[in-house]
Amino acid sequence: MNIIFFGKPGAGKGTQAKRLAKELKIPHISTGEMFRKAYFKKDKLGIKAHDKYFSKGELVPDSITNELIKKRLNEKDTKKGFILDGYPRTIKQATYLSKMKDLDVVIDLNVSDKTVIRRILGRRTCPKCGRIYSLIEDPKPKKDELCDVCKIKLIKRDDQEKSIIKERLKVYKKVTAPVLKYYLKKGVLKKIDAEQRIDKMYKDIVKSINN
Ligand code: AMP
Repeated sequence: MNIIFFGKPGAGKGTQAKRLAKELKIPHISTGEMFRKAYFKKDKLGIKAHDKYFSKGELVPDSITNELIKKRLNEKDTKKGFILDGYPRTIKQATYLSKMKDLDVVIDLNVSDKTVIRRILGRRTCPKCGRIYSLIEDPKPKKDELCDVCKIKLIKRDDQEKSIIKERLKVYKKVTAPVLKYYLKKGVLKKIDAEQRIDKMYKDIVKSINN
C-alpha cells in the first residue's frame, strides 16, 4: 500500500506512521527526519536546510525536497509500498509525487492549534540518531531524558520555540492545507481525530485503511 500521513506539525504523524509501517512491513519515509539526520551528520544539504529554513519554521524549497524524495522512492524497498510522513507539503510536491507513484490512501490527522503547541513544547530529540520522544505522552524516554538507543541527553530543537511553532502553523495553513483539497478531489482522503489518545487514534487509522 502507498500511504501518506498528512496533518499539522505535532499532529502525531511520525508516531502513527512508524507504528503502521512496522505492522505493514513497509518503509516509513519522513522528509523532516531525513533533513534532521543530514543536519546532525553535518552534511552540507542538512546544514543549509536547517540554517536557512527549518530553524525559522519555513519549508525547504520544493526543488530540494522533491529531489530528495525522488531518490528515496527509487529505492527497491518502496516497491511493495511505503508511508510518507511530512511529504507532500505543497501543491507542487503533490503533483510531482503523482508523476512518480499512485496513492491508495491519504490519512489526515485532525488536531487543534492548542494541542499542537502543547505537544511540540513537550518534545525532545536525540542529537545523534534523530529519534523523537515526548515528555508528556508516549513515546516517552525510558530513563530520565536520555535516548533509549544512544543513551545520550535529548535536546529541545530550535524549531520548538513558541514563535517558531506559530510560524510553522501559519505556513501549514497557507501552503500545506490546500493540498488536502487536492486529495479530497482524488477520493483518497480519510480524516482521523488526532485529539484522541495514541492507541485509539491508531485503531481508527487501521480501520480507515481497511475500509
Ligand atoms: P517535520 O519534522 O516533518 O515537521 O519537518 C521539519 C522541517 O523540515 C519542516 O519544518 C521543514 O522546514 C522541513 N521539511 C520537512 N518536510 C518538508 C517538505 N515536504 N517540504 C518542505 N520542507 C520540509
